[in-house]
Amino acid sequence: MIGFLDYIIVKLPQGIIPGFLNLEEQRKVNALKIDLIDLMECPKCHSAFAEKEKQGLVCTKCGNTIKMKDGIPLFTDIPQAIEPWEKVERGPDKGTAWRKSNWRFLNTLVQKLPADAKILDVGAGHGDFADIFEGRHYFSLDIVPYPEVDLVVDLGVVSPFKGRIFDAVILMNVLEHVYESRELMKSIQRIVAPEGRVIITVPFLLKVHQAPFDFSRYTPYFIEKMALECGLQVENMQGYYDPQYILNESLGNAWQFSIDSQPKAQQFIAKMLVFVIQKLVNLFGKVARKGYVADVSSQTNPSPVGYLVMLRKKE
Ligand SMILES: [Zn+2]
Repeated sequence: MIGFLDYIIVKLPQGIIPGFLNLEEQRKVNALKIDLIDLMECPKCHSAFAEKEKQGLVCTKCGNTIKMKDGIPLFTDIPQAIEPWEKVERGPDKGTAWRKSNWRFLNTLVQKLPADAKILDVGAGHGDFADIFEGRHYFSLDIVPYPEVDLVVDLGVVSPFKGRIFDAVILMNVLEHVYESRELMKSIQRIVAPEGRVIITVPFLLKVHQAPFDFSRYTPYFIEKMALECGLQVENMQGYYDPQYILNESLGNAWQFSIDSQPKAQQFIAKMLVFVIQKLVNLFGKVARKGYVADVSSQTNPSPVGYLVMLRKKE
């Protein structure tokens, strides 16, 4: 016979008392932070949203309804062709040299933001840099419903935010995956606060990745022109320079070339040479200057792994 105590222990978590949320429901409540909804408005009529059970977000004026998936509002359709990234462990000392330079750059800038700064991470994915934002008013979005994001929205298509509200909008390795980058930047210009900043990292010499959603590599001149066209301007622009990294990227190509080589004897020699070059590159890495960040105008041979950029609103 089940005693009363057992009854409580066994039955309570199954939701016998009204209002007791199981884990799934609790997650839904947590997913949409109450202060995020205060920063949002209906894209159709600019009125406030209310969160309604079973329906999703409902505009208090025009009734525009935004469906939810696992507690995440979906403002745009999820692309069918896209394969979500695997979650990769991230941190200040994890990943490639480019990733580490991104971490240092972002961390330094975020430390300088006031404690109450509102930060929006666009194309956040699994939240590769989320640790940097701990204890901050941090919100994230992506076009794919990763479990870590607050909203699914393609900002270049529709914006669910009030104007001039974010102190920092962040695009970490995102721009190269955006086909209509000008539309995205115009949308960001509208939501960034008058004294706010747009923080960007974007690769330059990096292989095609996340195919087929890899559309471009940007030069500083394109970034500057695009920013100006969208009502923004460059505050500073640096490159991350790392000859060893670039040599290793090229060695990937050389290895592919040696496999494709014909006939067999030629293939063998090519593979041996790649092996020797790899040893030399490793040796070079030991004596050469480590990867470094420098102003784009300071380099006589401008071939960076990528760019680290900060934009502000045009004066
Ligand atoms: Zn509305």
